[in-house]
Amino acid sequence: MSRIVMKFGGTSVADLDRIRNVARRVKREVEAGHEVAVVVSAMAGVTNQLVKWCQDLSPLHDAREYDTVVATGEQVTIGLLAIALQAEGVDARSWQGWQVPIRTDGAHGKARVEAIEGAELIRRMRMGQVPVVAGFQGIGPDNRVTTLGRGGSDLSAVALAAAVRADRCDIYTDVDGVYTTDPRIVPRARKLERISYEEMLELASVGAKVLQTRSVELAMKQRVRVQVLSSFEERPGTLVVDEDEIVEQPVVSGIAYSRDDAKVTLRRVPDRPGVAAAVFGALARANVNVDMIVQNIGADGLTDMTFTVGKADLARAQDVLEKAREEVGFEALLADPEVAKISVVGIGMRSHAGVANTMFRALAEKGINIQVISTSEIKVSVLVGAEYTELAVRALHTAYGLDAPA
Ligand code: ADP
Ligand code: ASP
Ligand code: MG
Repeated sequence: MSRIVMKFGGTSVADLDRIRNVARRVKREVEAGHEVAVVVSAMAGVTNQLVKWCQDLSPLHDAREYDTVVATGEQVTIGLLAIALQAEGVDARSWQGWQVPIRTDGAHGKARVEAIEGAELIRRMRMGQVPVVAGFQGIGPDNRVTTLGRGGSDLSAVALAAAVRADRCDIYTDVDGVYTTDPRIVPRARKLERISYEEMLELASVGAKVLQTRSVELAMKQRVRVQVLSSFEERPGTLVVDEDEIVEQPVVSGIAYSRDDAKVTLRRVPDRPGVAAAVFGALARANVNVDMIVQNIGADGLTDMTFTVGKADLARAQDVLEKAREEVGFEALLADPEVAKISVVGIGMRSHAGVANTMFRALAEKGINIQVISTSEIKVSVLVGAEYTELAVRALHTAYGLDAPA
């Protein structure tokens, strides 16, 4: 007998038939003698709609009220799944974040989980009851509802698995595992039987939405065994494991893309000490994260500085930089949201040279211009025009020999 946390994403609970399907899956695990807790997302599309309503009313809305609104999607699905389970003869009870409670910090809209009290859930699981817990939401220090950032139900599931000391955390979604790249863009992407925490973390952080970044971070830290699998098909999924559990390590294991970034260029900035500190200090104080950065070689004491910020932060970044214009002393501020970040990831890069070169050559052959480059120990990322996203991902997938046999 094991204790399992099963998490179902938005497409898996998109309508009543799918909720019934989820109930049958849960019932099977219960009948196999396991203790089960379930985490669910909102029905597909619901959170997007809720976010849009907030934005349409006021682009710079109060983050506390945003959380009040966007957390409601999960309240509906926990109730519906509990009803569906009961209809299947399974003892089940719904739990909102505050009822568990799932305690978070007060960063509304992107709160961090601080503690989960698992004792009551464990007691009920031992009695054979299935707790159905709302993903994405928690309760902050001010006793108000918080949310964990988009895709945050994965984090809820992993944090819950750690809190109840589950043997496994199964993430059910609309693909049957983690692939070498998004299978919706590259039909010849290959499913990975296993992937290391490190690589999954890097892939998630550069855009592979199959698992939310912080959920992987937490799974790695707490040693939670995560499996990604399909809620529609009966096949083993992908296990996220320690590096040393992977026998053959390819140099590049995956390719990811993100259209969530925007490029900012400050033209003709004074080339002197303190300028970067003024630019990035102002952005940091406004809570704007900066990702890739390049600064060109200066001429006549002036230089261009280019960096990326999240698209959602672009308006705020422009506002902050305009206000700091005098201190920084740039001539023009150019903003370009029509960019995509393409990244290749692999632990094998630590010991292999030439990985970046293969990337640059493959992109050049397709006539794709590279605007910004950044690297880490196991990753190379480039910024390209958004219109090249699919072409670049496919070209790189082929260039690194990742295509499945035709
Ligand atoms: P859920 O609603 O179940 O949380 P998501 O839409 O958040 O599902 O994540 C699943 C999606 O992630 C897939 O439909 C797929 O398009 C996308 N994806 C991106 N990169 C990958 C990858 N490397 N492997 C598998 N899926 C990926
Ligand atoms: N419903 C939330 C979202 O769409 C959380 C999740 O699905 O993981 O972002
Ligand atoms: Mg998701």
